Amino acid sequence: MSAAITARGLEKTYARGAHEIRAVAGIDLDIDEGELCVLLGPSGAGKTTLLHLLGLLDSPTAGHLEVLGVSVTGLSRREATKLRGGRLGFVFQEFCLVPELTARENVALPAMLRGDLRAEPERWLRRVGLGDRLDHTPSQLSGGQMQRVAIARALASEPRLLLADEPTGQLDGETASEVYRLLAELNQSEGLTIIAATHDPLLAEHAPRKLRLEAGVLLPEGAP
Ligand code: ADP
Ligand code: MG
Repeated sequence: MSAAITARGLEKTYARGAHEIRAVAGIDLDIDEGELCVLLGPSGAGKTTLLHLLGLLDSPTAGHLEVLGVSVTGLSRREATKLRGGRLGFVFQEFCLVPELTARENVALPAMLRGDLRAEPERWLRRVGLGDRLDHTPSQLSGGQMQRVAIARALASEPRLLLADEPTGQLDGETASEVYRLLAELNQSEGLTIIAATHDPLLAEHAPRKLRLEAGVLLPEGAP
């Protein structure tokens, strides 16, 4: 089994005036390819900061990090962007769809921006159960459907690691479970490694692996 994530003493400190905030305060973490992990913790625990570090959207202030076997601690911004575009996918709480574009266009956009003209938005939209919503714009879709478009957009770059930050945070209970089930199903069928942050313990109930973050520190796994 190869490693998706290897972190040692990972830290992210923000300077706030005279004092510092240790948003991620020394994390050791190993995640294998093919795992589905839920990252739990109260608001302010450092979930978003950690996901940004793991997704190369931000760089750590200390520690060592390998993502998909590549040591990313000293990577240049250009190298990080390349790794991100080719192998990492992101899903955010706010969906982040372009309101003027249809589902099909939203899914095709990142690939087009990379100059990749082989994008098959229909295939990915069908994969998330939206084969009949190809030409709808975000305002014509429900919250759960918008998030599924965002998931299809992430899948279209054929990532090996999908990072999701509160992907169900704007959805009601039943829709949230549906989106979570879709992620679990993608993990099972495609072997896609997924790390999803949530503060909803109900959603995490069935997750194969739960990581609990508190004040920037991971609690020992398996503890009650
Ligand atoms: P979570 O996603 O678990 O709610 P965050 O990672 O957003 O937690 O935040 C962790 C801590 O880091 C919080 O105390 C937050 O205020 C602080 N923080 C996050 N981003 C910044 C930033 N850009 N500048 C300063 N402090 C930040
Ligand atoms: Mg957050």
